[in-house]
Amino acid sequence: MDLGIKGRRAVVCASSKGLGLGCARALAEAGVNLVMNARGADALEQAAGAIRSEFGVEVVTVAADITDENGRAEVLRVAGEVDILVNNAGGPPPGMWTDWDRDDFIKALDANMLAPIAMMKALMPGMMERGWGRVVNITSQSVKAPIPQLGLSNSARAGLTGYVAGTARQVAPHGVTVNNLLPGIHATDRAVGLDKGAAEAAGIDVEQARKNRQATIPARRYGTAAEFGATCAFLCSQHAGFIVGQNILLDGGAVNATL
Ligand code: NAP
Repeated sequence: MDLGIKGRRAVVCASSKGLGLGCARALAEAGVNLVMNARGADALEQAAGAIRSEFGVEVVTVAADITDENGRAEVLRVAGEVDILVNNAGGPPPGMWTDWDRDDFIKALDANMLAPIAMMKALMPGMMERGWGRVVNITSQSVKAPIPQLGLSNSARAGLTGYVAGTARQVAPHGVTVNNLLPGIHATDRAVGLDKGAAEAAGIDVEQARKNRQATIPARRYGTAAEFGATCAFLCSQHAGFIVGQNILLDGGAVNATL
């Protein structure tokens, strides 16, 4: 299917690896020029180089912390006029509800709620003026079904989801859509980290922890960054202009809910 976005320009935050990279690659495959970001320059340059040679699109890189005001300013300075924004950042650490104090919450809110809001506030006015824009926020299945050990993530992402629910309806009249993609467990570095934590807590090896988790997923496997990216690219496509303010779960059926 032609996604109808060839030649558009996208900022994909936190995209040297994992789900962000999956989104960047799928957008590039659709002919979208990219501004890619991550903190570590080496992996970022490697990912950008592979995309340039595979898909022939223009890719600009900005090595910066997207959760930091100065980092965002640098990304925005380089980005210029943007049609598509994919918001992403690393997830907060796991723990117990008793572990976290105010500073931990502020850090999680900065990374997973206030950073994407700041990016939307910076880039959506231009999209609205030009009458076309797409925003996808990578959140988590924890928005629909809490993951107890990820209380910081549950909290910050719920806040972002509330903001998007109202804001998406305010920008939609101007041709701008905002939607959230909710990953269940996907085979990325983050998943390996979570499996290591589960293995240590249960006194089992990582492979067993992974098998145990896979058994709880109706699809009996982890998702891939490529299939996640393909969904993101569709949400950013010309065809998705009537999808507004939605929370789309990609979890292999893990959340046991009718709606
Ligand atoms: P990942 O494989 O660890 O990749 C994270 C990417 O983000 C890397 O490119 C990393 O590069 C970049 N990054 C991290 N923090 C950043 C920052 N502050 N500024 C700029 N770039 C940053 O993670 P993932 O699995 O793709 O997860 C992406 C998001 O989805 C996370 O918020 C995660 O919590 C959420 N999520 C993931 C899953 C899953 O199963 N994978 C499930 C639910 C939710 P640098 O380290 O070099 O910056």
